[in-house]
Amino acid sequence: METEYVPVHLESLAAFLIRHHSDQLRSITLSPDPKLHYPLYIDYAELMDEDPPLAHLIFSKPTHYLRFFDDAAVWAHKIIFDKLKVSEKGVEKKFIHVRISIGGSPLECPETFPSIGRVRVKHYGILLTLKGTVIRSGATKMYEGERIYMCRKCKHMFPVYPELETRNSILLPSSCPSQKSKSCEGTTFQYVENTILCHDYQEIKIQESTQVLGVGVIPRSILVILKDDLVDIVKAGALARVEASMVRLLGQTSCPRAKSALWFLNMASIKSHGIGELP
Ligand SMILES: [Zn+2]
Repeated sequence: METEYVPVHLESLAAFLIRHHSDQLRSITLSPDPKLHYPLYIDYAELMDEDPPLAHLIFSKPTHYLRFFDDAAVWAHKIIFDKLKVSEKGVEKKFIHVRISIGGSPLECPETFPSIGRVRVKHYGILLTLKGTVIRSGATKMYEGERIYMCRKCKHMFPVYPELETRNSILLPSSCPSQKSKSCEGTTFQYVENTILCHDYQEIKIQESTQVLGVGVIPRSILVILKDDLVDIVKAGALARVEASMVRLLGQTSCPRAKSALWFLNMASIKSHGIGELP
């Protein structure tokens, strides 16, 4: 196989995770189940102190960079794995997800932490935090996530991620994404057998607190998509705080109650508090 292309920032992300979260990485490495999805918790404030440009990229393009962060976490885990003592029994993991908390960071402001009723188009795509009561918690389902394609010309293999906006349809690149010095320009790609990765998936709905609303104002709600390790951790009636990126769901534009139908959040992290407890 060709030398793997290391995306920009992946090394610095992995180094950050090793410097600050080697305890969590060690405990993931020592966990026995290789098939589980493991969360790795980080504070946005810490990342901002250490690497402001990187923190800004996570804020402005969370969907893109959180994926890099997950790759970096798996990479950092492999480094920890290789350094284990002979007496320690580590198991290699494939699925680690970085979960970000914005607590104590400048993102804890009305611009990026609006009430659900104040969510607007300008909030699309950035790392957004919302708080509300879980009013619906759907059944856990499974969906087919990323899969590997191969360029027919140069045999370069690359992952393709389904688009949430278009209900998980697969969009292939217009030309070969190989990053080798000589550009390939191949335009036909072949699906590599048995490379589809399945994910657990759950839809919940959160509603803004009625206490902060005026008399007669109907509380707004928003659909939230939970994946992998975030599935099955919140119950209806609980208060939840989510850090997520907002995605516009296509194909429902005729709905008059646009806000709850058109937007949903693709999760970076979720914290749940017991029923009736204050966050
Ligand atoms: Zn190619």
